[in-house]
Amino acid sequence: MYKKKNREIIIGSNNAGKIKEIRDLLPKTYKVFSPKDFKLKSPKENGKSFLQNSLIKAEYYSKKSGKICIADDSGLEIDILNKAPGIFSARWGGRKSNFNIAIKKVFRELNKIDKKWKEKKIVARFICALTIFGFKKKPIHSLGIIEGTISKNKKGKNGFGYDPIFIPKGRKQTFGQMKPSAKYKIDHRFKAFKKIKKFF
Ligand code: IMP
Repeated sequence: MYKKKNREIIIGSNNAGKIKEIRDLLPKTYKVFSPKDFKLKSPKENGKSFLQNSLIKAEYYSKKSGKICIADDSGLEIDILNKAPGIFSARWGGRKSNFNIAIKKVFRELNKIDKKWKEKKIVARFICALTIFGFKKKPIHSLGIIEGTISKNKKGKNGFGYDPIFIPKGRKQTFGQMKPSAKYKIDHRFKAFKKIKKFF
């Protein structure tokens, strides 16, 4: 599809968990870079949606590195928290993106809304917006969603972010308890990627 010389791509993220997952989704023929290879820090994510933020990242990393970029912006929406943390998912972990802090905040906010939340089904979803910048004149966008519920406690040590408290619909284990290879086959990032796979 694209000339061999174009088979280089930068994954527009400084999140090790995401880089690993997107790297695994890309064809093995691609030479893959990360922002660290160019000593690039993250841009300000001041968009109002996952799609806007993924475009900000894809454009920034592509222009700074001179490579095609695939960037994701993703997060967790919890219905009874008015869809929070949403686009602020990373920021709930504080400056250092500490996921333990972010998960504690989720539990604290749920307690504030409903002391008996553990007896209820707390509907939530992970959303992933992907943007490829630099392939074509216009950026290519895609959105992937996985529905689920919030677990009563943290469970499992796999994955990253909110994985230990998210149970995908129809399953019993949290993403944190599932093998990474099993998570990667059903999650929001995979679903978003599937829609734009044809471009690679
Ligand atoms: P971003 O890097 O600004 O897109 O931040 C996304 C944040 O959402 C991450 O830091 C995680 O807290 C959360 N998140 C996104 N995708 C996942 C996932 O697959 N598992 C767990 N947490 C995720």
